[in-house]
Amino acid sequence: MQSVQHQVPQAEHELTLAANPVALEADVVVVGGGPGGFAAALRAARMGASTILLERYDMPGGVHTAGLQGAASAGAGGIHTELMRRFADHGCIYTVTEKTLPDWAGNPLSHYEARLQPGSRFSRSTFNPEAAGNVMVRMLDEAGVRALYGTSFVDALANSGTISRVIVQNASGTQAIGAKIFIDGTGTAELAARAGAPFVRGGGPQPATAGWDGVHRPIPGALLWIMSGVDFAQVVAYQKRESDPTLAKLIAAAQAAGDIPDDLYRPRLSGTGAYGNAYIGHPTPDMSPIQAPGTFIFWQNVPYEWGLHMDDDAQDHSRAEKSMREFVDAEAGFLKKYVPGFENAFVSNVGRYLGIRDGRHPLGEYVLSIDDARAGRRFADAVTRPMTKTFFWDSYASYTFEVPYRCFLPRNIDNLLLTGASLSFTYETIFMVMRNFPWCTQTGEIAGYAAGLSLQRGIAPKALEWTEPYF
Ligand SMILES: Cc1cc2nc3c(=O)[nH]c(=O)nc-3n(C[C@H](O)[C@H](O)[C@H](O)COP(=O)(O)OP(=O)(O)OC[C@H]3O[C@@H](n4cnc5c(N)ncnc54)[C@H](O)[C@@H]3O)c2cc1C
Repeated sequence: MQSVQHQVPQAEHELTLAANPVALEADVVVVGGGPGGFAAALRAARMGASTILLERYDMPGGVHTAGLQGAASAGAGGIHTELMRRFADHGCIYTVTEKTLPDWAGNPLSHYEARLQPGSRFSRSTFNPEAAGNVMVRMLDEAGVRALYGTSFVDALANSGTISRVIVQNASGTQAIGAKIFIDGTGTAELAARAGAPFVRGGGPQPATAGWDGVHRPIPGALLWIMSGVDFAQVVAYQKRESDPTLAKLIAAAQAAGDIPDDLYRPRLSGTGAYGNAYIGHPTPDMSPIQAPGTFIFWQNVPYEWGLHMDDDAQDHSRAEKSMREFVDAEAGFLKKYVPGFENAFVSNVGRYLGIRDGRHPLGEYVLSIDDARAGRRFADAVTRPMTKTFFWDSYASYTFEVPYRCFLPRNIDNLLLTGASLSFTYETIFMVMRNFPWCTQTGEIAGYAAGLSLQRGIAPKALEWTEPYF
């Protein structure tokens, strides 16, 4: 495990922060409008709390809109299910099956369906990230949330365990925004860290099997991007005609011609367990249908070997953003030049940002570990009824367990709630399964409810006694 980090605010620094005028105040301020922050703001506002949402991009949705990850799944009720219904009503859900996309199930180019038997039945639904962002903007508006887009959170002023204000930068300059309760929806626990809560840096071991060199590196983030104008039937015709299902022959030809950078199609660290097989290394194009016929989303994972901490190191972040843009350009160029069916394809969208899978892990009043899941642990302050989830870390084993409210409460700060990918979970536990979209929306809804209830009772979230599962 990485060592515990702690940002200790300097008195001088606090004075500088305190000098910023308070431009706005609310009962609840939510920082970050991804699935967690969006649902938190919506739930708090629906309970009557005056609520401000601060989001650095032009819409809520985080990885799933600005980051283009438009996978749609119904979820476990509540705001997530409502959201999917709103997307469907707005006509922004697109579904493919074995009838509309033959030869997709079992195709090695498929991100999600590669493991299926060729020709088997499947159904994959996605939403159009741009249209979905519009729906989410409207839902916040309808609930009376005051959302400030184009607004970056940069710091927090906390004294004696209470945050009094956050500092933001936007078109108005540098401003302070005050609240009674704050919610961290940054996806990387940035608010918790800047307010002085302890955290563990992203990164950790791989399952100890062949291929791991013992160095702790973060699970790589990814830049998602979209190509339109793809004639997939032509791709399949080539795969069959040339007995080249993974396009290995074309990749080899392009590599020999110097048309592909070394790190683009690198071998998976196969045999190294869950993460190695799932996300580390990327030997072929990795794609999934989205939005409309002939349109596919691609994954551009940052090479694991680079060991970049994109959430807390500007040099690492910048290197990843630049390199992934270069990879996107190179991959699109390769597909168009070498792969039949891509001749008329074009890059129609690149994510506004590179999604971070393994940022800071804040330490809460309880830190959920994989042992809790393995033991099927139950808690008096469980926020949901027992949930069954599959863990990559344990070779896709399923466990039924609960999550305590204390995972939403960072140590050292009384008026801050955590959500989504910023919950107090360990590295092995939080990756992927405990970070998926429906769960992150659920956690936001729980945090928003906790904020609303705390305000109604005139207490801090940490003083709230949690006795009933919310979901
Ligand atoms: C590359 C990638 C692929 C994924 N694929 C899937 C998938 O297929 N299916 C699935 O279910 N889950 C997937 N996930 C997981 C899931 O997307 C995330 O765990 C989830 O989006 C986390 O939600 P969140 O609200 O905590 O954070 P995010 O979605 O990261 O949202 C954080 C929001 O906060 C904003 N923000 C951050 N810092 C600041 C700041 N300083 N000031 C203002 N705003 C700020 C960001 O702009 C963003 O809108 C994927 C994640 C990644 C990174």
